Amino acid sequence: MRITVVGGGVIGLLTAIDCSRAAGVEQVDLFDAGPIPSPLATSNDRLRVVRALHRGEPALTLAAAQAHEAWMEVEGLVGARFYHPAGALTAMPEPEAAASLALLTAAGARAWGLAPDELARRYPQVRFPAGSGAVLEATAGAVLADRALIALARWLGDRPNVRLHPHRRVVEVSGSGRGGVIRFADGDSATADRVVIAAGPWSRELVPGVIASTLTLYRQTVLSYRQPEWVGLPAVLGLGPDRDAWLMPTVPHADAPLRLSAASACRPTREMTDRTTPDRWREHLMTVFADVLPGFDPAAVTDATDGYYLAERARGGPLLSSYGGGSVWTYAACGGMSFKFAPQIARTIADRAVGAPPRPVGLDPIDRPRQLAAVGEE
Ligand SMILES: Cc1cc2nc3c(=O)[nH]c(=O)nc-3n(C[C@H](O)[C@H](O)[C@H](O)COP(=O)(O)OP(=O)(O)OC[C@H]3O[C@@H](n4cnc5c(N)ncnc54)[C@H](O)[C@@H]3O)c2cc1C
Repeated sequence: MRITVVGGGVIGLLTAIDCSRAAGVEQVDLFDAGPIPSPLATSNDRLRVVRALHRGEPALTLAAAQAHEAWMEVEGLVGARFYHPAGALTAMPEPEAAASLALLTAAGARAWGLAPDELARRYPQVRFPAGSGAVLEATAGAVLADRALIALARWLGDRPNVRLHPHRRVVEVSGSGRGGVIRFADGDSATADRVVIAAGPWSRELVPGVIASTLTLYRQTVLSYRQPEWVGLPAVLGLGPDRDAWLMPTVPHADAPLRLSAASACRPTREMTDRTTPDRWREHLMTVFADVLPGFDPAAVTDATDGYYLAERARGGPLLSSYGGGSVWTYAACGGMSFKFAPQIARTIADRAVGAPPRPVGLDPIDRPRQLAAVGEE
């Protein structure tokens, strides 16, 4: 069986790895419009947070509680280190902390609660909303994303049954019972038994209109903030007046800035244009973090960048679908949390592509993918 993967972000790279290890797969071809990994991929950032707690959502919390182990398995496979178990601290009104702790414990995550006084004592670098307790997840942390992508691409590059094709933009993918046909921007085309489209926020350009019309594009701003001195912080969430601001964990032994953002800095947008942050969004986040970081210094904001992702409109999360009689699988919407679930998502996409029984992830849109009878089904 010959498999083609379109897109070399975290989902495409991991899907290609899993396909290349599956029985009966002779060849895997991975195409990306840019270099592999591409600096423009949503996945290609310094850090992506991996944490289990999804408040009020036991199934999602259960699935997420397995994410850090899945990442450590990937580390073992490719022989590189990029999982940074810094922990994740979620602040919330104190009376709600017990329920969140119970949710995490039921999911098998190692976590404990912090009362308001202990929270303030242990984390003087952060000002929490009044009346906050918190839960601290010990096994949560972050993937050093840019390092991970390089290691995944290197592993694939050494694999005899894998061919990487950087700088090859795909413009169309069609499928039928006989397999998939991939057309490139230069006019060439290729065939494969199965095609997986994992083109991140660009997926709208490649998937059938009936799928594209269900997707919303989001643009999110992240600030970089120079730390006065190195502090070991976990990922911290539940900050600011609306409790929707977060900071990414600090990375040891790296002269890395703090990364700051908030759900309120994530907005729907029509098109992907540039990554330059408009002043108004930079200022919005600076206002939020002026209250969150004691002694906040505007001059310490060294950078601001915007990233994009697609989400399925109704549920706001990922979307897996197939067409062409199962010959084309598309991970059209990645949502705002596909990085942490990527090893689990890629494994199940690869299962479906190679015709193996799919291992469930615990995320409904992925475990029950949308099947289109034909591309013209609109
Ligand atoms: C600011 C921000 C913070 C986030 N934080 C987190 C987090 O903490 N935890 C978490 O789990 N998730 C987080 N996410 C979401 C996560 O980063 C994404 O869900 C994930 O990286 C998507 O990976 P992907 O492989 O689907 O897409 P991408 O990484 O975007 O990869 C797509 C690839 O496809 C290629 N491509 C595009 N079009 C074509 C084409 N026509 N032909 C060939 N190749 C093509 C691109 O060049 C690119 O390399 C965050 C997202 C943003 C924007």
